[in-house]
Amino acid sequence: MNEIPIHLETDVLVVGAGGAGMYAAIAAARNGARVLLVDKSLISRGGATIMAQMTVAVAVGEQEPDHWTHHLADTLAAGRGLCDEELAAILCREGPDRIREMDEWGVHWTREDGHLKQVMAPGHDVARCVFVDFLNTGPAVARTLRTRIARTDGITRVSGLSVTSLVKHSGRVTGAVALDLEEGRTVTIAAGAVVLAGGGLTRLYRRNSASVNMGGDSYAMALAAGADLIDMEFVQFFPIGHLAPRLVGMDPIMWDPFRYKLGGRLLNGNKEEFIERYGASDSGTYTAPRDVTSYAIVKEVEAGRASPNGGAYLSFEHLDEATLRDAFGPVIDRLANNGIDLTKGPIEDAPIAHYHMGGIRVNASMETTLPGLYAAGEAVGGANGANRLSGNAITEALVFGERAGRFAAKSVSAPSWDTAWAQRGIDEIRTLKSPPRDNNSPVFGELFSELQNLMWDKVGLLRTGEKLQQALTRIQGMIAHDLPALRPQDGKAFAVGIQEWFDLRAALATAETITRAALNRTESRGAHQREDMPDTDESQTHNQIVRQEDAGLAIETAAVRHIEFDRAALETAV
Ligand SMILES: Cc1cc2nc3c(=O)[nH]c(=O)nc-3n(C[C@H](O)[C@H](O)[C@H](O)COP(=O)(O)OP(=O)(O)OC[C@H]3O[C@@H](n4cnc5c(N)ncnc54)[C@H](O)[C@@H]3O)c2cc1C
Repeated sequence: MNEIPIHLETDVLVVGAGGAGMYAAIAAARNGARVLLVDKSLISRGGATIMAQMTVAVAVGEQEPDHWTHHLADTLAAGRGLCDEELAAILCREGPDRIREMDEWGVHWTREDGHLKQVMAPGHDVARCVFVDFLNTGPAVARTLRTRIARTDGITRVSGLSVTSLVKHSGRVTGAVALDLEEGRTVTIAAGAVVLAGGGLTRLYRRNSASVNMGGDSYAMALAAGADLIDMEFVQFFPIGHLAPRLVGMDPIMWDPFRYKLGGRLLNGNKEEFIERYGASDSGTYTAPRDVTSYAIVKEVEAGRASPNGGAYLSFEHLDEATLRDAFGPVIDRLANNGIDLTKGPIEDAPIAHYHMGGIRVNASMETTLPGLYAAGEAVGGANGANRLSGNAITEALVFGERAGRFAAKSVSAPSWDTAWAQRGIDEIRTLKSPPRDNNSPVFGELFSELQNLMWDKVGLLRTGEKLQQALTRIQGMIAHDLPALRPQDGKAFAVGIQEWFDLRAALATAETITRAALNRTESRGAHQREDMPDTDESQTHNQIVRQEDAGLAIETAAVRHIEFDRAALETAV
């Protein structure tokens, strides 16, 4: 029997309710649009935003003089020549407005002497990062936006709705097809504009700091609809992701602020400091950039100087108990519950896939290359170039979210809809609901972990042309053979089996774009390190654009977007 999809209509559809999506929803509604905010998980609880425990970079200059142009200079330096300067400037210039607006909405940034407290973080030239103690930044941001949404007229929220494809007509995005995960119903949504805010892709890697929803859906849907992606090769590996001993219920990247606040010492298996060997100065300052630190740890491990579980030690043993308790606050008790006493021994860390600098290509209005389609947050590429500064991602989510919602609302014309336009997306779900039997169907979990291992081993921190080519061949084989053969498992509660099929499709499409772009960039720069091409090649100071064409993935270079400003003044202005 042919199921009739549930049909919804809205002015602005926002896909993903993390920091970017929630801010987009608020901004669109206050610009007069009816908004439908959907998430495949629970609203505000599904992605990276609520997991972030550390800091937000913003030049509010409350504790020492600062100016957004200084933040921009640091962002551009970290981006190794590839930042879209217009987007980076927007991020830095509008960050303070968003942080103060969040303050008015009750986020409770930590204060000192009546001022927002700001701490130093790697790559920043002043103490610039605000936060909510203790390790509460992301939950506080998520709660504040959730509460604000509840108080804003015109926003309808739907949890458990996974968008599976975009709908296009006459070259314009006119809505989406989605799967209701609880009932398994197909849902069609007509929208005057769509904002993709589905977050990043780090779930594609074996060791990651992600939730299960960070599997690249936004990139894959934008790509399939014909939008441009930019700089997909730049995946950030966080250097000191927790490795051992076992740490339950805590953020694996929680050690970073304590390391630079307290001078946590990073040591190899021989208990020697080693960052200086790799061209960064770190001892006593603890501010080496993430890409250099990750590289240094991997190289020490390869040289046979690993800690027992294959990483590096992080030691706070030189500090007394009172200093540690003062800095860690209640976190020290949560560590104790995990059997960790920092006065008695080091913990072990190793790099972990953490953030994606690349993504959907947008202009200053957060409009993609497809009319009617906007993007925001980690789904967007370009602002951070080849490497992201600590704390820039939440700022990016809030600033770009606000802009995407505002400009999407202003662009809206009455949504037009014809179910025929959505037929392909509807049919995809229908076929998966009653798949032909196949007892030899591959198993989702096995395919997904194979992909994660492949990405970690061959498209990870240290790449070579040979490893990338091997990965690409296997990914393309999985797209051509394994995905079509995968049958949603019978008898599973909810629509989990169908959702898994879409998860794998998005992950494979996204993995292919990363691998192709990494193969094409025949140099090392920022987070993209090629062991067979270890030097940066100035002639490759360009962005890479990936696009789906009839003949397959097309990849081309594009000039980096520069803006007019006095570069010398950037270095000195405060
Ligand atoms: C553990 C961790 C700690 C971090 N710490 C910091 C930090 O201290 N400072 C900092 O600046 N950055 C930090 N980051 C990065 C930062 O948190 C993210 O880049 C940022 O929050 C991304 O926000 P977002 O709204 O774009 O995406 P997310 O918050 O990831 O939200 C995306 C949402 O989209 C939903 N979604 C995905 N696909 C679909 C679909 N097909 N249909 C419907 N919904 C969908 C997801 O369920 C999710 O709720 C951290 C990241 C992690 C993982």
